[in-house]
Amino acid sequence: MQTKSEQLFATAVDLIPGGVNSPVRAFRGVGGTPRFIKSAKGARITDVDGNTYIDYVGSWGPMILGHADEEVVAALQRVAANGTSFGAPTELEVELAQEVIAAVPSIEMVRTVSSGTEATMSAIRLARGVTARTRIVKFEGCYHGHGDSLLVKAGSGVATLGLPDSPGVPAALAENTITLRFNNAQALEEAFAKHDDIAAVIIEPVVGNMGCVPPQPGYLETVRALTTKHGALLIFDEVMTGFRLARGGAQELFGIKPDLTTLGKIIGGGLPVGAYGGSREIMNHVAPAGPVYQAGTLSGNPLSMTAGLVTLRRLRDKAVYDTLENSSRRLCAGLARAAQDAGITTVTNRVGSMWTSFFTNEPVVDWDSANKCNREAYGRFFHAMMDRGVYLAPSQFEAAFVSLAHTDEIVDETIEAARQAFARI
Ligand SMILES: *Cc1c(COP(=O)(O)O)cnc(C)c1O
Repeated sequence: MQTKSEQLFATAVDLIPGGVNSPVRAFRGVGGTPRFIKSAKGARITDVDGNTYIDYVGSWGPMILGHADEEVVAALQRVAANGTSFGAPTELEVELAQEVIAAVPSIEMVRTVSSGTEATMSAIRLARGVTARTRIVKFEGCYHGHGDSLLVKAGSGVATLGLPDSPGVPAALAENTITLRFNNAQALEEAFAKHDDIAAVIIEPVVGNMGCVPPQPGYLETVRALTTKHGALLIFDEVMTGFRLARGGAQELFGIKPDLTTLGKIIGGGLPVGAYGGSREIMNHVAPAGPVYQAGTLSGNPLSMTAGLVTLRRLRDKAVYDTLENSSRRLCAGLARAAQDAGITTVTNRVGSMWTSFFTNEPVVDWDSANKCNREAYGRFFHAMMDRGVYLAPSQFEAAFVSLAHTDEIVDETIEAARQAFARI
């Protein structure tokens, strides 16, 4: 008999391309049918067939407090009753800007948009506008949303489908994107030697979108030094890492100030959001203060601002990052031990509450090494975990997330499931 998820998916593929509204939700990388989710609470999600799973996707990053947090839900209900969008400024937008500026070291002014994609597209336009240069540098395996200039060697989503890059991206635009190896400072030095028209270097300071790949010691420092030397802007895409690795994101953790920062995910507390910010001088180029145009009908809408504010205020307490560090360390150590005991080699990369267990026996430091992992083994592990009530990302090339709702008991339950799953595969 078909499950309700299978029935819904069969209907959905006729109506929605691939049956999903974002490719990473499809199970192309692991086989099988996506689970349709009905509800979620804390660390768990429940599908339309009534199966409950411990969730390590966390809506791909935003749900750092856990699902359906009581304070977030109550605030949303209160605010929704007063109207959900006005197309005019609100106090909530000012409060969110204050919260972000107080937290993120390099941000003096911030503009809110409705997605991470919009944030990175806008930051690129701003960088080009400010420097009057055209080219941008990105790194293989880094994903910065699906804007034309950035959808080149863009990591997880595209790579999981086995596609090279997307048709529909004009060659003229792709030509202006230089793609280099992550964690390779020499490649960046050579690019600057060859091109004098690089407007910006955009980077995930800790990559999440080829699986979790941290920067090697000194790498980000070199990227900062080279961009400064050559007059290019450094954009930290902290859509995933912002408020995740530390309150001030990766830039706080590594003590490096980029020129522009993009945010999203956590700052919307599970509602659609994005933001980009930087120094007063740079941000004053944005319309209507300056000539670089960018706009949005639903930008800064009261519901996103509300969920974001409740979330960011709870993250003011530095102790939450210790909690996340401890539960994530416990989890990854337990998973590694379970794999080892089953005679399976994995390499686990983790920074704070962001992690990936790669099915490989080599260090994963860039896209080429990530791409060497055994996707079939991951697919079998993914399904074995789902059979045991644990929901992982349906692709090897994704970061997993621990939330504040993942208690030690839930972590231990996950490790026990993994022990059985590793033994099975
Ligand atoms: C998720 C993500 C984006 C895109 O954000 P959307 O809200 O999905 O458009 C951009 N950059 C990074 C690093 C991300 O993780």
